[in-house]
Amino acid sequence: MLGLMQDWPLLTHRVIDHAARHHGGREVLSRSVEGPLHRSSYAEVRHRALRLAQRLARDGVRLGDRVATMAWNTWRHLEAWYGITGIGAVYHTLNPRLFPEQIAWILNHAESRMMLADLTFVPLLEQLAPKLPHITRYVILTDAAHMPATSLPGAVDYESFLAEADGDFAWSEFDENTAAGLCYTSGTTGEPKGVLYSHRSNVLHAMACSLPDVFGLAAMDRVMPVVPLFHANGWSLPFSAPLSGAALVMPGPKLDGPSVHALLEEGRVTFTAAVPTVWLALLQHLEATGAALTTLKRVAIGGSACPPRLIEAFTQRGVRVVHAWGMTEMSPVGTVCSMKPETAGLSPQGQLELQAKQGCPPFTVDMRIVGDDGQEKPWDGSTFGNLQVRGPTVTRGYFKTGKSALTEDGWFETGDVATIDAHGYMHVTDRTKDVIKSGGEWISSIELENLAVGHPDVAEAAVVAARHPKWDERPLLILVPKQGRTIEKQSVLDHIAPHVAKWWLPDDVVVVEEIPHTATGKIQKTKLREQFAGYFGAG
Ligand code: AMP
Repeated sequence: MLGLMQDWPLLTHRVIDHAARHHGGREVLSRSVEGPLHRSSYAEVRHRALRLAQRLARDGVRLGDRVATMAWNTWRHLEAWYGITGIGAVYHTLNPRLFPEQIAWILNHAESRMMLADLTFVPLLEQLAPKLPHITRYVILTDAAHMPATSLPGAVDYESFLAEADGDFAWSEFDENTAAGLCYTSGTTGEPKGVLYSHRSNVLHAMACSLPDVFGLAAMDRVMPVVPLFHANGWSLPFSAPLSGAALVMPGPKLDGPSVHALLEEGRVTFTAAVPTVWLALLQHLEATGAALTTLKRVAIGGSACPPRLIEAFTQRGVRVVHAWGMTEMSPVGTVCSMKPETAGLSPQGQLELQAKQGCPPFTVDMRIVGDDGQEKPWDGSTFGNLQVRGPTVTRGYFKTGKSALTEDGWFETGDVATIDAHGYMHVTDRTKDVIKSGGEWISSIELENLAVGHPDVAEAAVVAARHPKWDERPLLILVPKQGRTIEKQSVLDHIAPHVAKWWLPDDVVVVEEIPHTATGKIQKTKLREQFAGYFGAG
């Protein structure tokens, strides 16, 4: 017997419909690529998204077609997501920080037929266009006054393109399992892989993200996604903020410490989200200038492990750190570290230590840790295992591969190694490839890095495995000093020593000027491993 409730497919355009109808005047404030601040609202975003949908449909964009975006976080990019999905087409976000050949490969694999791009990327796209046969039109996200002369095929400025439609148009209706978004993982080895979100997974994920113990979004919030929309579905904030009626503050292209701080203040932001490197830069700016955060209440930090030093610094400024773990394949949020009655009684120091863990999954995500034999490992907070996940917001296969990405019993292998404690808090110890295997035992590179960046002279730290004649692998600590500081190797090792087993202590320390990062701001361990594999003289 079926239930007798209404059939109302979970489609992403229902999110902007809801926001426009019930929170229509709520502000969408953006730093434009052209420079000045721009003010819009959910009602206006919806109206312009409808015009875009109408205009795209007139150009022949149909259900399932991929429309690429290469853009910063602005109101126009937000409109693009809703306009594209509103006719059942698929927004395909491109990370401009990838190598140009990778971008071309991804666009050709996706067969994206149109590109919506910011002014910033016109020169790059002009260089790539001859290699992109599927893209027949480039819409530049600007107005006629700022439109450059360009050789891009079918080039038009976004405002003129929109002006050709009046918005007297209705969203398309289709199944909620229809594809909505496409994002390729940067894949440190092998070819990038396409993760294809559905309308249903996006809406469910946005609802889960808004819950109090996840991002806790509300109509009183003003949300600033510093995390780019092209990084792992923008952590769902383009959906979860309007779904909750929260205002959006979009930082555009300026993601440095001073610019982020200026907009946090100007935009009266209460909730923001980004990777740790963004927040380390912001804190350096605050320390250097003595500036304050006057409205910010919560900061979501994820994408890489959040160093305790960051948690402490924000807590001291009255800002709660929401440490989150996830991946592109998970829409992307997998776990968030929030208090439970079982942990709320911890001392302030105990709470800080707990927050360094990645936390617990929201409803829609199930997780477990297993050994290499596939057997589940205990939740005792110390046994390591391969972390696996499942749920309606987790991928089951990559675009165009035609095969399942799951284990035989239906779990997705994250590639992370983790512990889970008795209260269900998950703690990532490493990527499977980054864990250091010393004499048959495992050493967590993340834990050593977190300790190292707690040293007052250290700006950034990476620990990699170097081959060792006796122990197979031993940890090597690579450090970047803070500006104007000198690093004493022994002082950093002495700082780490009281917190780890003796055999975990790195065998040596190398001080460098810069550590390489990936296109999503993570430390590029593969590159460091290649460079330092032979450091201890073993072949
Ligand atoms: P991506 O799909 O590029 O976002 O990368 C996902 C990977 O980033 C995960 O599998 C983790 O290895 C890493 N990651 C994300 N968030 C965290 C976190 N809070 N702590 C540690 N690693 C993280």
